Amino acid sequence: MPARGGIDLGGTKIQAVVIDASNEVLSEARHDTPTSGGPPDVAEAMANALTEAAGAAGVETDSLIGVGVGSPGAVDPAAGTLSNPPNLPGWEGAYPLASVLSEKLGTPASLGNDVTVATDAEAKLGAGRPYSSLLGVFWGSGVGGGIVLDGKEWNGRGAAGEIGHVVVELGGARCGCGRKGCMEAYAGRTRMEAYARKRVEKGDETQLFEIMEKRGRDRLTSSVWARALDHGDPLAHKIMRRAVEALGAGVASCLNVLDVEAVIIGGGLGVRLGEDYVRKIEKAVMPHLFMDSRPPDFLLSELGDLGGAIGASLLVTEPARVR
Ligand SMILES: [Zn+2]
Repeated sequence: MPARGGIDLGGTKIQAVVIDASNEVLSEARHDTPTSGGPPDVAEAMANALTEAAGAAGVETDSLIGVGVGSPGAVDPAAGTLSNPPNLPGWEGAYPLASVLSEKLGTPASLGNDVTVATDAEAKLGAGRPYSSLLGVFWGSGVGGGIVLDGKEWNGRGAAGEIGHVVVELGGARCGCGRKGCMEAYAGRTRMEAYARKRVEKGDETQLFEIMEKRGRDRLTSSVWARALDHGDPLAHKIMRRAVEALGAGVASCLNVLDVEAVIIGGGLGVRLGEDYVRKIEKAVMPHLFMDSRPPDFLLSELGDLGGAIGASLLVTEPARVR
């Protein structure tokens, strides 16, 4: 049975899966992303996560036909290198991640962009199956986007789908990218947290940071936000309404250009907040949608937190090589 591996490399977590030929997930493992050291430490943690997943599936990593990696930052799939991934420690220049992993695991490794592979997974195996065109919206620490047109991913010259940086307010809030008024400056979890801290300094009250500490976290994770919303925390609701408004304007602007059949909402916040927030985002899109008589379908990601790792495993297409 030719199984293959997939690894989703994130700033917080490394998610690994082992998948069989019919795309069933056989096992998974989740490890923390190292917060210190450098690329070799990250590669080691990735290899450990996949080795644990393989062990749980009862296979050795060198019997996998290959492993795919979805990563943020600048990926060069042909060279197998990763440069400047955001939120990863001590990363300078291009690191040969594919060859290092391949050596450690005893099987070929290939690299792809995290959002692109997650969109590919939803298009082929998840909520996007019925459609030949779609927009994937990955709502987490930032807001990433994946575009499928006529059944094919559209990557532009390598940087398409950066929907987080669609401008929703001229001269607006400062974005992590250094520009102003981007959708992500309002809807990205990192910027939402920065805004929450600013509001608290100005005297607003919230349980957000109490919940964070109780859970032993040092940042406002998606589940911290979900819990605060469940508790009816007014500041959490206010910041979330602002985020949804921004998503509405930004996603509508993309739809006005692309006119795709479906929007699939995933990412850490998207998956955690679920169907209820898919409907809120749909509602926030409508006032800005030019062709509002026939809006696209709005769906929640079907593959959830494993979508990135499953999509990464789809990078493995070659049959087993004789080494
Ligand atoms: Zn930006």
